[in-house]
Amino acid sequence: MADLKPGGPKVTYATLAAGQTPEFNAAYDDAAERVRKGFGKTHPLLIGGRDVAGRETFKDTSPSDTRVVLGQFTSGTREDARAAIASARRAYETVWRDLPWKERVAFIRKAATAIERRRFDISALLSMEVGKNRLEAMGDVQETADLMNYYCDQVEEHTGYEKPMQRLSEKEDNRDVLRPFGVWIIVSPFNFPMALAGGPSSGALLGGNTVVFKPATDTPMTGWELAQCYREAGLPDGVFNYLTGSGSTVGDELVTNPGVDGVLFTGSREVGFDIYRKFARDYPKPCIAEMGGKNPAIIMSSADLDAASDGVLKSAFGLQGQKCSACSRIYVHASVAKAFADRLIEKTRAISIGDPVLKENWLGPVINRKAWESYARFVEIGRRDGKILAGGEQLTKEPLHHGFFVRPTIIGGLPKDHALMREEMFLPITCLWEIDSLDEGLRLANDTPFGLTAGLFSRDQKEVRTFFDRIEAGVVYVNRRAGATTGAWPGINPFGGWKGSGSSGKASGGPYYVAQFMREQSRTLIVD
Ligand code: NAP
Repeated sequence: MADLKPGGPKVTYATLAAGQTPEFNAAYDDAAERVRKGFGKTHPLLIGGRDVAGRETFKDTSPSDTRVVLGQFTSGTREDARAAIASARRAYETVWRDLPWKERVAFIRKAATAIERRRFDISALLSMEVGKNRLEAMGDVQETADLMNYYCDQVEEHTGYEKPMQRLSEKEDNRDVLRPFGVWIIVSPFNFPMALAGGPSSGALLGGNTVVFKPATDTPMTGWELAQCYREAGLPDGVFNYLTGSGSTVGDELVTNPGVDGVLFTGSREVGFDIYRKFARDYPKPCIAEMGGKNPAIIMSSADLDAASDGVLKSAFGLQGQKCSACSRIYVHASVAKAFADRLIEKTRAISIGDPVLKENWLGPVINRKAWESYARFVEIGRRDGKILAGGEQLTKEPLHHGFFVRPTIIGGLPKDHALMREEMFLPITCLWEIDSLDEGLRLANDTPFGLTAGLFSRDQKEVRTFFDRIEAGVVYVNRRAGATTGAWPGINPFGGWKGSGSSGKASGGPYYVAQFMREQSRTLIVD
């Protein structure tokens, strides 16, 4: 496997340019060639440490060119889901639950090392499977390893979550211990198929639980790579099970099966809230649902407009607007509205679009035909009810005509209560409105069932304080050129949503994450 020398600059979402070195590009190009050679194979499920072939398979194709088949994957069944749950239960009861926490930490650190060792190959794969440009792809991979290590640090800091308590007499030994729940289901979305699978699964595993993992149907191959990294780390059989198949069958069985103790879902609000409502039936069980966003950026008259337009551009269009934290609403003060819009439009028109494997391209394709068609529908609505300020076109000419490419789009002139102000489009489309005051900006920004991320650009300290105090979102940034609403990093910007964006009030990559996968046991021992 190719490797970048230790000590090279770390690629995070906020420091993407740091990776744009000749060594990085050479290692990525080699990896892309290597990865392509492995395409076309049929991949089984992984249940109880065994490869399980299914009767039916589905094709995993590249959104850049649908003629490219990355692999064939097993269409798992409800029976497979039940078998995976049973195997996770066995592994929980026979090996994982009673393993000393230091050994669990050692396994997860090994998995993080395996990911870092394969990071160029997995990045190239992410470009081909999801359509991420090479630096966004590396960000996803590096984030996964960093999440795992950060969660290991957390367990070590809390010495395995066993805490001596006060005593009423010398004869007592009182302890508070966090204990696992049992079997956890991890369901991940297509847009961060490494970080949002590796992060949650490692959290659950560090908590002493075993895992059944279902990747999104658009990204089974990245999920397979994660499973291989856990294998390479030597995880005992059945501790991590990998199951492909559709959300409506395999997914539904996993989240309704009474033998499951906890669910961590990341994906749309529609699916997540439905799972949240139906998961716990006989008694309360933890269901962590990380869901969508409709993230606003507010630009006030004192803002540095160059930084603001850079920050909004990156957040609105990075990964083709398919980030839960994407900036899909811009509220700009009337006094600077034209100057800001001119800058943003100019920068948007300069974005290079094309095969994201090539280093010169920043914007890749959207994930699938359904997303591509939704783009046309939303643009039509924007044209009808407002004005297309930039973009607004599907790209159907050579060499892009076999993929799902579109132009990044800015819509202006919509009424402030328009449906596009509420709906998460999950596409490279952002809408711009003028406001007269911060009060108005905050009122509109908060007028949504979501509460994931938000950004402000202002040099006025009073406005900054008011924004922090009144904005209803779990992740907020002020004056961030590297991303107005996107680009959180483990241990630096904990990431979790309020309101309809998240169910737990705790953030991934934050200090309280691992504890969510455990329950408290108060232990009192009387010693004679
Ligand atoms: P999605 O359609 O909701 O799917 C997410 C996952 O749920 C997929 O693995 C899907 O499987 C599965 N699923 C679908 N129906 C299910 C069911 N009835 N029972 C169990 N599982 C089911 O979301 P997506 O399009 O992949 O991802 C985009 C969404 O994720 C956006 O809304 C975005 O904002 C959100 N997101 C949130 C965060 C966060 O941290 N808050 C991070 C990233 C993304 P199939 O693929 O087989 O349908």
